[in-house]
Amino acid sequence: MNQYNAYVLVVEDDKQIRNFICYSLDAEGFKHIAASSGQGALSVLIAEPVDLMLLDLGLPDFDGMELIRKVRQWSEMPIIVVSARDQDKEKAAALDLGADDYLTKPFSATELLARIRVALRHSARQNSGYRMQNVLQVGELQIDLDKRLIYVEGEETHVTPMEYNLLALFFKNIGKVLTTKQILKEIWGVGHGSDTQALRALMAGLRRKIEKNPAKPRYILTEIGVGYRLVDE
Ligand code: CA
Repeated sequence: MNQYNAYVLVVEDDKQIRNFICYSLDAEGFKHIAASSGQGALSVLIAEPVDLMLLDLGLPDFDGMELIRKVRQWSEMPIIVVSARDQDKEKAAALDLGADDYLTKPFSATELLARIRVALRHSARQNSGYRMQNVLQVGELQIDLDKRLIYVEGEETHVTPMEYNLLALFFKNIGKVLTTKQILKEIWGVGHGSDTQALRALMAGLRRKIEKNPAKPRYILTEIGVGYRLVDE
């Protein structure tokens, strides 16, 4: 038993990877059930009270994307996509469709379990109507959402309103990867979907103010080809 008491559905057609995932879940006390196809996954989802789904995108019968689309019609359960290294585009598309996170093969049990915990924490907050605290902290980086202030190592740091909005968006999604598209939509609104250059410039400016070494960020990490993530500590 672990504190989350979650029932996990593992959708993976590769037997070795499926066994590895199930073994890792067992070791951590997660209840789980496995499916090796999209159709199999749907049958489980209809019959069982699944709390979280680990989903391989390349399934024998239908595309994992299709499954995300279907599930999102009736459920907000966390979906963590499992994909091969050369599928960056698919990862971003899966997140845009409503997946919560992704893991790139090969991954460790530690990585897998950490992502599951982040996703479950996030979903518990959403479901409990959890009111976000006003002051949030990651390492030496702090944000006061009421006063719209940022502190680095206890010192107030001046940022522009746009930089503040960007950092606030990450703090509201701690640990979660946000795609470039999702960030652009939140910060600039609809209609600026393709201006990734503006986001890169804004990110560079923010990193100069919050990171000791902006070239090697420790707070907001770049997820190559996908987007960015604020670390969850
Ligand atoms: Ca596969």
